[in-house]
Amino acid sequence: MVPDRLSTGIDSVDRLLGGGLETDSATELYGEGGSGKTLFCLQVAYRVARDGKWVFYIDTEGVSVDRLRAIAGDSLEKLLKRFLLSTPKNLEEQSAAVRTACALARGGRRPVGLLVVDSATAFYRLSLSGPEEDDARQALSLEIAELVRTALEAHTAVVFTNQVWRSMRENRLEPLGGSFLNHAAKTILSFERLPGAERRVVLVKHRDRPEGWAKFRITDTGLEGTGGG
Ligand code: ATP
Ligand code: MG
Repeated sequence: MVPDRLSTGIDSVDRLLGGGLETDSATELYGEGGSGKTLFCLQVAYRVARDGKWVFYIDTEGVSVDRLRAIAGDSLEKLLKRFLLSTPKNLEEQSAAVRTACALARGGRRPVGLLVVDSATAFYRLSLSGPEEDDARQALSLEIAELVRTALEAHTAVVFTNQVWRSMRENRLEPLGGSFLNHAAKTILSFERLPGAERRVVLVKHRDRPEGWAKFRITDTGLEGTGGG
């Protein structure tokens, strides 16, 4: 099936992506704390639910509904009827939530437009340098592989967020989780903080778009494009 594109509602980012986020594959968002990854996920989720499809949202931060209210306003209660929200408290619960969401999406009883895991690597990060690091890496890899398979089989978009670490050698922020995550995602967007409410998104990888960047501003009711290049 030919991938569809989901508009993000941020004109600069839609232009960067050639129309929006693609279905049938996974998109990775990485960037430091406060760079806007969660707000971006919520904004896309709001639009998908508003347009009549289901959103399966796995939230390890426990903050989604309040922030969704700011974007959705009075339509929140109606939208939440098409939200399946799960809030895992550790990596095992996260794996189970991903399995359940993928099985439901593939089962096809509800038309699922978007599957979000925010953050995919928060619990994984806690395991790093400990005795459970290898198991955690394997669990994360299995989850991402299942999400990728589900995107294709259920003709849905998958977005997962990733945290960063500072590479001293390169002196830059790099995504966690190793090369597996970066291969699994067909589209990769790096989020950067700018002064004030402005943020920059860099298109690091895409199937058929050139590298580039877009800027947006965080407002009380969502994200607005402010240019690109
Ligand atoms: P993390 O990796 O910690 O989860 P994140 O990339 O998901 O971070 P978000 O939670 O999406 O980041 O973004 C929060 C940022 O948005 C904060 O820097 C906050 O100050 C900013 N912010 C939130 N609401 C507004 C607003 N109304 N106006 C301006 N900035 C805002
Ligand atoms: Mg976040």
